[in-house]
Amino acid sequence: MNQAEQFDDLLTCRLGQTQRSLEPCSVVIFGASGDLTARKLIPALYHLHQEGQMPSDYRIVGFARREKTDDSWRDELRQALDEFSRTKPVDAVVWQDFAGHLSYTRGDITEPEAFQALERQLSSYGKEPLRRNLLFYLATPPSQFGQAVEQLHTCGLLHKGGEQGWQRIVIEKPFGRDLESARQLNRELTRFASEQQVFRIDHYLGKETVQNILMFRFSNSIFERLWARGSISHVQITVAEHQGVEQRGGYYEEAGALRDMVQNHLLQILSLVAMEPPVSLDAEAIRDEKVKLLRSLRPLSQEDVARQVVRGQYFAGVVDGELRPGYRQEPKVKPDSNVETYVGLKLFVDNWRWSGVPFYLRTGKCLPVSASEVRVQFCPTPHVLFAADCGQQLDANALALRLQPEEGIYLRFNGKVPGIGVEVRPVRMHFSYDSEFGAYTPEAYERLLLEAMAGDATLFIRRDEVEAAWGIVDSIRGAWGQRPLSNREFYSAATWGPVAADDLLAQAGHAWHEPLLTNHVKKGR
Ligand code: NDP
Repeated sequence: MNQAEQFDDLLTCRLGQTQRSLEPCSVVIFGASGDLTARKLIPALYHLHQEGQMPSDYRIVGFARREKTDDSWRDELRQALDEFSRTKPVDAVVWQDFAGHLSYTRGDITEPEAFQALERQLSSYGKEPLRRNLLFYLATPPSQFGQAVEQLHTCGLLHKGGEQGWQRIVIEKPFGRDLESARQLNRELTRFASEQQVFRIDHYLGKETVQNILMFRFSNSIFERLWARGSISHVQITVAEHQGVEQRGGYYEEAGALRDMVQNHLLQILSLVAMEPPVSLDAEAIRDEKVKLLRSLRPLSQEDVARQVVRGQYFAGVVDGELRPGYRQEPKVKPDSNVETYVGLKLFVDNWRWSGVPFYLRTGKCLPVSASEVRVQFCPTPHVLFAADCGQQLDANALALRLQPEEGIYLRFNGKVPGIGVEVRPVRMHFSYDSEFGAYTPEAYERLLLEAMAGDATLFIRRDEVEAAWGIVDSIRGAWGQRPLSNREFYSAATWGPVAADDLLAQAGHAWHEPLLTNHVKKGR
């Protein structure tokens, strides 16, 4: 059996395990009155309940400082579901049943008494697994993560190694602000929990289309054989957002596009696209390969950053007939802010497979559309036939993995235009998730919560991965220093970033490709 066939076997086995039986457990959400809980966590848990995927018995305990009763928290969440549920209207009977699993504990993470109250709440559950199998979801500001874990340990709810039932900690992004703070947070966490108990979230890994990158690569021999220098000219990864920062200016001023998107989502996608085949689909085997890939990225010197990294910030522009404010006019943004809302970069993977192949990554706010896509651009054929005979410029083959929206895969190749003569033009072959599998696509948080309850860390980021990614981001930030943005680094709202981003590819004779969207999706952006 060759390597691709072995992978087919492994994947088929894994895909067969669609439904797992989960042990009864309690999910404790710190930050229960916050935006993430209302918009993502509760809708995800509700849908898992609706689909019968939650454990046979479970409780959800909300924890936050605001004064609430069980009933008032439930009422708020019911309203949030009306807005954020992916299936509408919310089923009243299912909701009643689900709401019976919810309770609220008021408390401050800084106060030991609050954790004693939480402990009493959990102890009141009659069945042992509900008191011992505990998933702690930290949906609070990152400054609270370390303290929450210490308090959990002190009050006896978190045991390192988990010999009494299991206890797991799910940590939201951002995981640190730089390499040093990420290391510090890792040290704080692993004082009280083993690495196997820590589940660092990057919600992109919960997306079906992102998971499909590995399936696509390693279960299709026609592509697997081409996936290397020699066949691939370059790779483009685009994560574009049409909206500006809107109400999240305060957060964004501290983050910027590099920390907010490149450190996690873009480098995660890159590692899945470029990593070597793992020896199995085991969480550690996959994460070993991702770390190896991140460590193979060519380090960026100050001069490399000047040549290979482009940053930008949007200024006001007319979008769909309306004037959009520039970043500096957004609420809670400093009028002279130097924060980047766009990053484009060229990276090289210094290993045998990818030597010399550029990987172009870009992300930004206020771009023309919201779309995430990986585009693999193959090498052109020799131009001895058509170009020489007819003077035609043939497009090279390209493969686009559309992560969102209009999830699917496009293959672009050349075909003869019917008729007399030799005219060749690019055509597309298209696979769409919707038409193949129906419209049902679970939300990323559904999958991630399920995996965390099952104890499978494949879709979560390991300590060394997060640190390797920060190493790359820190070298870029260090090179930028305090240098103010120059005029060339601004771009008008709803354009594809500063001009320098085009120059970055043009140096090598390449050009960015816009994700193709249907008009229907474009209008909704
Ligand atoms: P919010 O500001 O909306 O909510 C923060 C929550 O933390 C509130 O419930 C707040 O409750 C609680 N909290 C703050 N301090 C304490 C404390 N000392 N003790 C107890 N509870 C406290 O933030 P979000 O929900 O937007 O974000 C939460 C986390 O998720 C952040 O780390 C964020 O970066 C991350 N995240 C959020 C996303 C989103 O879409 N919202 C997306 C990706 C990541 P109270 O004030 O009642 O105490």
